[in-house]
Amino acid sequence: MPNFYCEYCGLKFDSVWVLTAANCVRHPLGPHRGRHKLYESREKGHYTCKYCGKLYSSINSMTASNCLRHPDGVHKGRCAPSL
Ligand SMILES: [Zn+2]
Ligand SMILES: [Zn+2]
Repeated sequence: MPNFYCEYCGLKFDSVWVLTAANCVRHPLGPHRGRHKLYESREKGHYTCKYCGKLYSSINSMTASNCLRHPDGVHKGRCAPSL
């Protein structure tokens, strides 16, 4: 069974159906302002932020941090995993 992860919060789901049904606490527009988004890459041992290049062991720990090089400004958004 593959696992599916939300790109915004790193929560793990059994199916895309369930993932895209629920609101995300780390949605870019604000908590619960939109649904989880499928991370469209395979599960990895570590994840690189696509803005600042910082390495994290999980999407969940990555998206807990604000990003120094976020396109909207310093600490104006969270780190986000590259594919
Ligand atoms: Zn989410
Ligand atoms: Zn970052």
